[in-house]
Amino acid sequence: MAIRILPENEIQKAADSFQQPPLLFANAKNLYERRAKRLRSLAENHPFADYLEFAAKIADAQGLILQENPVEKPQTAFADVLPLNVKTLQRDAKWREYLTALLAELKPNATEQMLGTIDWLEKASNEELEQLADELLAQNYANCSSDKAVFIWSALSLYWQQLTQYLPHNANMESGEGLHHCPVCQSTPVASVIHFGLAQGLRYLHCSLCESEWNMVRAKCSNCEQAREINYWSIDSEAAAVKTESCGDCHSHLKILYQEKDPHVEAVADDLASIFLDIEMEEKGFSRSGLNPFMFPTE
Ligand SMILES: [Zn+2]
Ligand SMILES: [Zn+2]
Repeated sequence: MAIRILPENEIQKAADSFQQPPLLFANAKNLYERRAKRLRSLAENHPFADYLEFAAKIADAQGLILQENPVEKPQTAFADVLPLNVKTLQRDAKWREYLTALLAELKPNATEQMLGTIDWLEKASNEELEQLADELLAQNYANCSSDKAVFIWSALSLYWQQLTQYLPHNANMESGEGLHHCPVCQSTPVASVIHFGLAQGLRYLHCSLCESEWNMVRAKCSNCEQAREINYWSIDSEAAAVKTESCGDCHSHLKILYQEKDPHVEAVADDLASIFLDIEMEEKGFSRSGLNPFMFPTE
């Protein structure tokens, strides 16, 4: 593990040698609002406007549910090592309450096709839902159809994101390796973001599940860590705020968003809206190394 979350008693030592934060936790209060707003602005004149609007409605619902039914502080303290690891965390039933609430929020304006999915999920047993959640968290995406995956993941993500607020908020960069997965929960990144402001010019990968961001040097493949054959691509221009970084070694690519070129870029929204870039990259032989919560790999 290359970025380690520090227990409380080690935090002061780390603060003394503080250079740049290796790990940034999401601010839940504005995360969903900002995402919904960005999705709606990207939906203007977009060929997939309806789907971006659907994603915005999910983000609205996540923000609402967060206010109405937040996750309480866990009774027992987290273990020191990877406390929110998707493979080991014993999640409680809260995430299923979130799923029920999300389905209720989305139902009134759902399309016929979506109603079928909502109906299935409403009738599914707890065991069935837990099993689908296990499959998604284990990255066995072929075992859960993408229409169900979007709702289940959105509920799981809302749950995981809130747990991060109960972790000690400090971390140490121990090496520049092993950074393809989130150091908090071990999930796949959505995209990377080049920050401006305090962390000017630094690259952070954004977690598709717990929404944390972790620092990784630029111009190095986030998937295989090679730097030999890195290239950047965009649809419109050299100055685009959304590009993708391809690696000739592992033949993958991951979007890279530049806050300096557009301060409103948002990992999930901009990655989803730039789907045409994925199609072009696929034609060039590069597959996505990131995961978008609204675009699961098709089986
Ligand atoms: Zn994470
Ligand atoms: Zn690579």
